[in-house]
Amino acid sequence: MNVKELVSQMTLEEKAGMCSGADFWHLKGVERLGISSVMVTDGPHGLRKQDQSGDHLGINDSVKAVCFPTASALACSFDRDLLFELGKALGEECQAEDVSVILGPGANIKRSPLCGRNFEYFSEDPYLSSEMAASHISGVQSQNVGTSLKHFAANNQEHRRMTASSEVDERTLREIYLASFEGAVKKGRPWTVMCSYNRINGVYASENHRLLTEILRDEWGFDGYVVSDWGAVNDRVEGLKAGLDLEMPSSGGVNDALIVKAVKEGKLDEKILDRAVERILTIIFRYVENKKNINSYDKKAHHELARKISSECMVLLKNDGILPLKKKSKIAFIGKFAASPRYQGGGSSHINSFMVSNALESANGIAEISYAKGYETAEDIIDENLIKEAVNTAKAAEVAVIFAGLPDKFESEGYDREHMSMPNCQNKLIEEICKVQPNTVIVLHNGSPIEMPWIDKVKAVLEVYLGGQAVGEATVDVLFGDKNPCGKLAESFPKRLEDNPSYLFFKGEKDRVEYREGVFVGYRYYDKKNIDVLFPFGHGLSYTTFEYSDLKLDKKEMLDTETLSVSVKVKNTGKVAGKEIVQLYVKNAKSIAIRPEKELKGFKKIELAPGEEKTVSFVLDKRAFAYYNTEISDWHVPTGTYQILIGKSSRDIVLSEDVLVKSTSKIPVKLSLTSTVGDAMEIPEAKPFINELLSKNVLMGSDSDKDALGEGTSEMMERMMIEMPLRALVSFAGGALSIEDLQKTIDEINQKANKA
Ligand code: BGC
Repeated sequence: MNVKELVSQMTLEEKAGMCSGADFWHLKGVERLGISSVMVTDGPHGLRKQDQSGDHLGINDSVKAVCFPTASALACSFDRDLLFELGKALGEECQAEDVSVILGPGANIKRSPLCGRNFEYFSEDPYLSSEMAASHISGVQSQNVGTSLKHFAANNQEHRRMTASSEVDERTLREIYLASFEGAVKKGRPWTVMCSYNRINGVYASENHRLLTEILRDEWGFDGYVVSDWGAVNDRVEGLKAGLDLEMPSSGGVNDALIVKAVKEGKLDEKILDRAVERILTIIFRYVENKKNINSYDKKAHHELARKISSECMVLLKNDGILPLKKKSKIAFIGKFAASPRYQGGGSSHINSFMVSNALESANGIAEISYAKGYETAEDIIDENLIKEAVNTAKAAEVAVIFAGLPDKFESEGYDREHMSMPNCQNKLIEEICKVQPNTVIVLHNGSPIEMPWIDKVKAVLEVYLGGQAVGEATVDVLFGDKNPCGKLAESFPKRLEDNPSYLFFKGEKDRVEYREGVFVGYRYYDKKNIDVLFPFGHGLSYTTFEYSDLKLDKKEMLDTETLSVSVKVKNTGKVAGKEIVQLYVKNAKSIAIRPEKELKGFKKIELAPGEEKTVSFVLDKRAFAYYNTEISDWHVPTGTYQILIGKSSRDIVLSEDVLVKSTSKIPVKLSLTSTVGDAMEIPEAKPFINELLSKNVLMGSDSDKDALGEGTSEMMERMMIEMPLRALVSFAGGALSIEDLQKTIDEINQKANKA
């Protein structure tokens, strides 16, 4: 389809009309020109296709579909292929239901464990988040259905989400909050991007030219359409100018008329409108022209896929050897979630599942299972009778498995959590059961981290997250060892909420939310400050054991324009097959920039039979070593030694090797009278000048001065001297140096250094 040609045939009114929805879920069509009205639908971890009364809060029922695990679980798989497979299944469902774009995935960073929507987001780490999002996108789009990467950008809380301004410094934006989207856009090439509700440094995302045009399109090469989050438009005409193409849902014609008026009055260049329409039509036709002729999909097969995915995402947080459970033994399943699991979150991502499995029924026939409800999920009221019954049931069994977690109302789109606790009734239940049953296992259903006051009293903890509609079967698969757990945490579990770096500033003051912790998000903060966590980023156990050896780098020294190949051997030293997630972190020990202790720059998941060994390889490029240097508005690798760390988790580094990386960036030399002597000493072109001063003893004082002050004086004086501004040398030189001469020398040094 020649889209430009088509746009030239459209009236101004038709073009303005294309820039907003026909209703809640459809874009407008133009019959006379053969433009179909296509549908978009939530997302991200299942299809929420509403037929009639649309809403964006998940209130009205949608067509029956398959609910897969949510993003916080998915990211724990660290498995790109698995995410692709999930995306492919979602794409097939969209084709069958005639949906052109599925709204997701969400690549927002988990700044605080309290964000109500964390269950829909992948990680606290931008590299992991972007890799997961990119694979999800590629999977969906392999079926010729679009995705909408959301919510762009810095939308990290639900509190005042439509009005708040995220106040984030440039380096933090680039390294943390934008990086998560950047990788997803560059690798996944989403058909559409959804801008968020909030403002970024005062400017609404929906009218943020820098974000939607300069960064997203000009820098990252995004070529699809930008859609507003539902109701995120503030000023429609400003939005168009900034790069927001499509407004959703319908504005009832109000904003279309404003666009027409602005063009007629010369306040909006019609070319801007044309370009937006071209982008929208390109995506519409990409879908329509590749539409597959199917109207159903194998729901059962997708349920089985959901089961496989769920088991691959579970994280075995603790195991004193009690797991896997023995088949045929006497086991008490305690807790309402054993019979009706919490498997998804509330809000726009809510799926109308065609079936849901629970652990209680799934374990039928595998072991001798008894059951007690233990608590009600809707209310946080301690019911002594339920607890008593549960205690008796637990006492009579060999092992008690308590299914606990967070109730629906504790975490949802639209508001944030107030604390990180589980309901009191559940904590109390666990405490009481531990008193009578030493073999207690906890299975957790939650979208984000919780505090675990009972952690030392239980034998094992299996973190299931929100595992989708097949969670019951998947949990039983893992509990009884038919599946070996292989997930690792995509976020840190702090011991206490107060330990979290955003704690002092989260939610902000009215509409001003300052990201004062900067780049120190999640493990970047806990590691730097050496704070004990409950479970670290990247942690997860297995029913087997792995040994790492032979870490090799293909270079000892490199330029930042070169790549580094890294390999390491991993062996399954246990008795059962298992999967291991090999993590690569980079550490820049002595940096001129204030940097995190280490950062994840590579990961690979491999499967190993007992006794089997494999070599895992990584290739690192400039970005693996760089930080965002605001002085040059670019990524920069300061020359220095970098440690390549291989870990089983962020806190379990097993091997390390050094590489010297040399910078090729040109950092402008801007020496001035107020630069310090130390600054000058770092510039090769300033060396002769400094040496001359040194030889005249201008800087170090006379030998007799030194003698008078005693041993170690030279070193002390040198240390004091390097902090001195150059202008101070004039007074120390006792007439040997004038301010004019000094300025002249500085100018010469700058000139020489910037030419070199
Ligand atoms: C949510 C989006 C969602 C949209 C449509 C909004 O409230 O923030 O994530 O895609 O509604 O339901």
